[in-house]
Amino acid sequence: MRIVLATLLIQIISLWAVAQQPDLILTNGQIFTSDTSQLYVEALAIKSGRITAIGRTVDIEKLATRQTKRLDLGGMLVVPGFNDAHNHLPGGLKATKIASAGMDPSWEAVLDSIRKAVRQTPEGQWIEGTIGPSIANLPAATRFVLDKIAPNHPIRLLSWWGHVGLYNSLGLREMGIAEDQPDPKGGFYERMPDGKTLTGKGYEKNAYWPHTSYAKMASLRDENAMIGEFRGMTQALLKAGITSYQNMCTGATAADYARIWKKAGLPFRLRLIRWGDMNTDGSLSIPAKDQPGTTSDLPLLTISGTKWLLEGTPIEGGAEQVDAYPNRPGWYGRMNYTVPEIERMCREAIDRKDQLHFHIGGTKSIGKLLDLMASMPVDWKPLRPRFEHGDEIDYSPEYIRKAQQMGIIIVQNPTHFAPMEGVPMGPPPTHGMAMKTLLNKHIPLAIGSDGPFNPYLNIMFATTHPRRPGEALSREQAVIAYTRTAAYAEFAEQEKGTLTVGKVADLAVLSQNIFKVPVPKLLQTESILTMVNGAIVYDAGLLKVK
Ligand SMILES: [Zn+2]
Repeated sequence: MRIVLATLLIQIISLWAVAQQPDLILTNGQIFTSDTSQLYVEALAIKSGRITAIGRTVDIEKLATRQTKRLDLGGMLVVPGFNDAHNHLPGGLKATKIASAGMDPSWEAVLDSIRKAVRQTPEGQWIEGTIGPSIANLPAATRFVLDKIAPNHPIRLLSWWGHVGLYNSLGLREMGIAEDQPDPKGGFYERMPDGKTLTGKGYEKNAYWPHTSYAKMASLRDENAMIGEFRGMTQALLKAGITSYQNMCTGATAADYARIWKKAGLPFRLRLIRWGDMNTDGSLSIPAKDQPGTTSDLPLLTISGTKWLLEGTPIEGGAEQVDAYPNRPGWYGRMNYTVPEIERMCREAIDRKDQLHFHIGGTKSIGKLLDLMASMPVDWKPLRPRFEHGDEIDYSPEYIRKAQQMGIIIVQNPTHFAPMEGVPMGPPPTHGMAMKTLLNKHIPLAIGSDGPFNPYLNIMFATTHPRRPGEALSREQAVIAYTRTAAYAEFAEQEKGTLTVGKVADLAVLSQNIFKVPVPKLLQTESILTMVNGAIVYDAGLLKVK
């Protein structure tokens, strides 16, 4: 009997050993795990897309069999694939795009580009361009000026940070906006001194697809061009070492993005965060609300959470502040919704156990939101509410305390710390855009780009912090915020975010050691090999799998 048992045991063990035989081992590397209990290992083993062992090269090599493939890292740095926790996929407006000079082109320069585009574009076709703070805040920039040079082409000029749009008259008409269009919930039209006539500028919801239904958006979209754009973007993402992308569905519904994603067949993880909208009667409209979170035909795609745009940004004076804007006496900014309206958004999310993502950042507005949430008889922690930007969360110790109590996650966008053309920096403020303080206070901090998705640019700004150098993170902290905490911020920390046993093998082998190179060299970093689920999805051809 004992012999039978022993034989059985040996059989079970050898079966187990076969099951454990790695498909691939990575050895002789500097593998940054993002797990603070063991930040670096030399080697790891992968089986069926997951990490099955980490440790020293000698130990991992012992696990390999004749079937196991090997990748000698030759001392290169490996990081978990970056997870961009906040970005926006293109919306696919069918348009001639005008090139803009820099982040803050002059009105004259943009008008010149439009004149050129008008000559090259068939009448009736959209012309689209990007504007900066100067034009967004210029009273003379109106549709009437655009109408003179482009009476027969619809035009949309969108601010690069998304909260201001400028249309010509045909553009407004094409979008279905009447001359006497009232403001919808969640957006504003700028009006001439008569208080009625539209200037062509729209804010918030009105900037992007002004007061337009998703059906209208779909009719203006070029889906094939969008697929091409996605594919081009994917190459750049993978070459940057990004393996996860959390998309705020500004330009299309989550269902539309999922369909286009499926056609494009892209090999990285995409999370689609629904974009919430409020109807004029105050009822909530959340497109793709009933769409399943995951489906077996699209294993890399997740649909979850809802984003609400509660206010604008300090750039156009949209964020609501305690003190008036220095350049606009008596103007404090404004929220897009009232507190009772925001409470409705909260209740809706609580009922569905849905994760809330609030665009919020002002000194006043953050206080109002925290007060509201704290007043509700809800255990917020398990719902992991997110404040996107959350710039002024350190305005008062009371804000910090409430954020801690409710488990608020801050998703910050380091490229927003960049000095802005034409805006003097001044001395560092004592609050706003905090990073290090948040970590010290144990508030989860994830990094998203909400702009250029280059992780090394974002790491550079997170670790130098031109606005508040005292709030700069270490590079290790920045990478952890970009991987482990970004996964936590989407309820995926059991699956990904660290290079530890049981996690998916999503990783990037980097061209240089980003923890050691001097700051100016950071931007030269590229991934030389990117893996998603243990499969090579980008390969610069410098390393050989044998
Ligand atoms: Zn954003």
